[in-house]
Amino acid sequence: MLYFCTAGIPASTKGKGDTISGLKRVADLGLGGMEIEFVRGVYLKENTAPPVAYVGDKLGLKLSCHAPYYLNLNAVDEIKQRQSVGVLHHAARIAAMAGAGGIVFHAGYYLKGDPGTVYDQIKGQMELVLEKLGDDGSRITLRPELAGKVSQFGTLSEILRLSKELPGVAPAIDFAHLRAVTGRYNSYAEFSEVLSRIGEALGAEALSDLHLHVSGIEYGRTGERRHLNLAETDYRFDELLQALYDFKAGGMLVCESPSIEGDALLLQRTWQELMSGGT
Ligand SMILES: [Zn+2]
Repeated sequence: MLYFCTAGIPASTKGKGDTISGLKRVADLGLGGMEIEFVRGVYLKENTAPPVAYVGDKLGLKLSCHAPYYLNLNAVDEIKQRQSVGVLHHAARIAAMAGAGGIVFHAGYYLKGDPGTVYDQIKGQMELVLEKLGDDGSRITLRPELAGKVSQFGTLSEILRLSKELPGVAPAIDFAHLRAVTGRYNSYAEFSEVLSRIGEALGAEALSDLHLHVSGIEYGRTGERRHLNLAETDYRFDELLQALYDFKAGGMLVCESPSIEGDALLLQRTWQELMSGGT
C-alpha cells in the first residue's frame, strides 16, 4: 500500500493551522498521511506529541517527521557535532511520540572532506543516535535523505549503504533531488533503475516500505533551487508512478510541491487510475 501524504500541514487547513487540525484536513481530503515538519525546530513537546499520535491513529493516517535543517553530522567543530547528534536524537524521540514511523534528515555537508571519510564520520554519528534511541526505547526508523545539493552528503549509493550497514536505518528517496543533482532521472527506465538498486541493496521488503519525496523542481549546476508544482515542470510523474506500480512499491509518498495538497491529490488520483486500469 502506498500512502500519499502532504509535507506538513495542508495550506487549506482552517482554524489555528496546528498539527492536529492539519491531520483532520488530510483525512478530509482523502489523503493517506503527513510528514510533520520539524525543519525549523522541533515544535512538538513531550505533552503535545502523544495527542498527535492518537489523532493520526484514529484517522488511519501514516505519519513521519522531517528533522531540523540545521544539523550537520559532519561538522568540523566537536561541539557542533555533539549538538547535531542531540538535535537528531531529540527530533526522533519526539517524532516517535507523535506516532511517526520514520524521521527524515539531511545528514550533513562534505565541507571539502573526502567522501569516504565523511561517510565513516556520518555513520559513526548515526550509530550514536541509534544507541540513544535504543536507550530510551524510542521505536523509529532513521531515514537519511537523498541530497538535493552537490555540497550535501547523501548520494543514492551513500544512503543505500548506510541503510544496509545500520539496523534501524532506511533510505528517504527524494526524486526531485535526484533529478536536481544529476540532471537525469526523468523517465520510466531511470525510475526503474533506482527501484532496482533499492531492491538489490536492501531486498524486496524495502520496496514495500519506501519513503519518497516528490515535487517539481528548478535546479542549476549546484543542485536544487526551489520546488515547483508538477504542472509547472516537465516532470514525468506518471512514469514514476508506473515504475512504482510495476515494482509493487509501498510506504509513504510525500508531496513537497508548493501546492502540497493539490499535487498530493494529483499524484494519488493518477495512482488510483493505474490501480483500476492495471491487471
Ligand atoms: Zn528534506
